[in-house]
Amino acid sequence: RGICGSHGQPPPLPVPEKIVATWEAISLGRQPVPEYFNFAHDVLDVWSQLEKAGHRPPIPAFWWVDGAGAEVKWSFEELGEQSRKAANVLEGACGLQPGDRMMLVLPRLPEWWLVSVACMRTGAVMIPGISQLTEKDLKFRLQASRARAIITSGHLAPRVDAISSDCPSLQTKLLVSDSYRPGWLNFRELLWEASTEHNCARTRSQDPVAVYFTSGTTGAPKMVEHTQASYGLGFVASGRRWVALTKSDIFWNTTDTGWVKAAWTFFSAWPNGSCIFVHELPRVDAKFILNTLSRFPITTLCCVPTIFRLLVQEDLSRYQFQSLRHCVTGGEALTPDVREKWKCQTGLELHEGYGQSETVLICANPKGMKIKSGSMGKASPPYDVQVVDEEGNILPPGEEGNVAIRVRPTRPFCFFTCYLDNPEKTAASERGDFYITGDRAHVDKDGYFWFMGRDDDVINSSSYRIGPVEVESALAEHPAVLESAVVSSPDPIRGEVVKAFIVLSPAYSSHDPEKLTQELQEHVKRVTAPYKYPRKMAFVSELPKTVSGKIQRSKLRNQEWGNEKQPQKG
Ligand code: ATP
Ligand code: MG
Repeated sequence: RGICGSHGQPPPLPVPEKIVATWEAISLGRQPVPEYFNFAHDVLDVWSQLEKAGHRPPIPAFWWVDGAGAEVKWSFEELGEQSRKAANVLEGACGLQPGDRMMLVLPRLPEWWLVSVACMRTGAVMIPGISQLTEKDLKFRLQASRARAIITSGHLAPRVDAISSDCPSLQTKLLVSDSYRPGWLNFRELLWEASTEHNCARTRSQDPVAVYFTSGTTGAPKMVEHTQASYGLGFVASGRRWVALTKSDIFWNTTDTGWVKAAWTFFSAWPNGSCIFVHELPRVDAKFILNTLSRFPITTLCCVPTIFRLLVQEDLSRYQFQSLRHCVTGGEALTPDVREKWKCQTGLELHEGYGQSETVLICANPKGMKIKSGSMGKASPPYDVQVVDEEGNILPPGEEGNVAIRVRPTRPFCFFTCYLDNPEKTAASERGDFYITGDRAHVDKDGYFWFMGRDDDVINSSSYRIGPVEVESALAEHPAVLESAVVSSPDPIRGEVVKAFIVLSPAYSSHDPEKLTQELQEHVKRVTAPYKYPRKMAFVSELPKTVSGKIQRSKLRNQEWGNEKQPQKG
């Protein structure tokens, strides 16, 4: 008998592979989405059984550490038990019903993962938020979402108290702390007392699972609603192909819990049977991250490009990573210099992916596919991704336009339902048969997408269109540049010109700024088309960023234009 068996058929797959293959087929749009689906019941509890039957290596499903030696390790079974207890807290003490919304604003504490799963078990809708939210941010989010409950830490509780009287829908406040606070339920105490018996809500695939506020890189954050299936099944294939996860992997994504990437992580990792590794990571510190990769058997790493940029500034030869074998990045453009330095120093490729809160993975460089440096990879199935013009017509390779996803005649299941309470914004995001991402790019004849910039960030100088990322990538190749942001600036003759805000590497901080400006301008003219060079330059100590680490070019641009009317883009 050959490897394919006596009848030319492949041998039967072992049980977990068969199950994961079915989820993957749904995720790729090759099999229909079931009518009922609940991630906790249909994925986590299934892995709990597979684990019990010996179908998984003895690694945890969840592994949390802090900087002081504390550690939490849960198998799928323990995660199931703890999250059932948490579900009883949400239903009992908090009185949450299916469809009720709950805000989760916690640092990287194990309770964040527990409560996320507990929301699914009860049918409640989670609304994660970042721990840096101010009173004003919290009020905006609680009012806009009409959340019935919030769970947060002792650090944020006073901010919630300061505004909760303005949030009439908010009925329950849950505290994750070892101390008490008037008006708050103590989650840890309630969890301790709660029963491990719980009947998971029977949710339909189309029922909402999460509402995300976008990063707010370009304006007020929007509420993006996702369903049990869009998130619960939408990441299985990309988890397998782009993040290359298997049941033997230990996956660390350094993201904040308030950002979509934290949910992307568990929706990618757990269906594939992988372990999610979490470091409390009180601050972003390159040495801290590198030491963690050396101390723990982490196989797979995900950080935003800004963090990889910090890591490659270090002498990586001083670290020996125990088990690292696959690295992914996304959330903003990866400049080629960072990828090359990482690869040169670690021998590992950096696989870039591109997506939005509104979607699952849109483009990626999956494992095994040839990488073209500077490209965000090819369309990620089941999406039909195209570059289209303002009317939604598909443009040929090489032509710059809007990155768009086909939503007609069939809207992909792994897609947001709408911007909540904002039908105008939802309608405005579509043109012809496509959803318009708001990002500009071109696609080459091999199907690779080349990101140019967000629509508003593209610079139009003397009728040349210039993407900030190209100029930033060119600047990054010069040793003086630690990081940069390129925006448009008003100009009496050209209308607008390229201006670069540059953070210098420490070795260059005392150089003559005028000479350095000239040198950098010449450098850009040499490495890219000369018309793109920054006519204006400013050296700054830091760049404005969102808490997820994305550069807010819009802030710099507004600063440049002041009261002058900015040109219309499109
Ligand atoms: P808002 O919509 O409120 O301005 P946001 O768009 O930053 O916020 P997210 O949904 O978190 O919020 O970010 C998605 C955006 O991030 C994409 O539309 C794109 O502009 C950018 N992005 C994500 N991945 C990449 C990538 N690999 N390369 C370039 N840009 C990326
Ligand atoms: Mg956006």
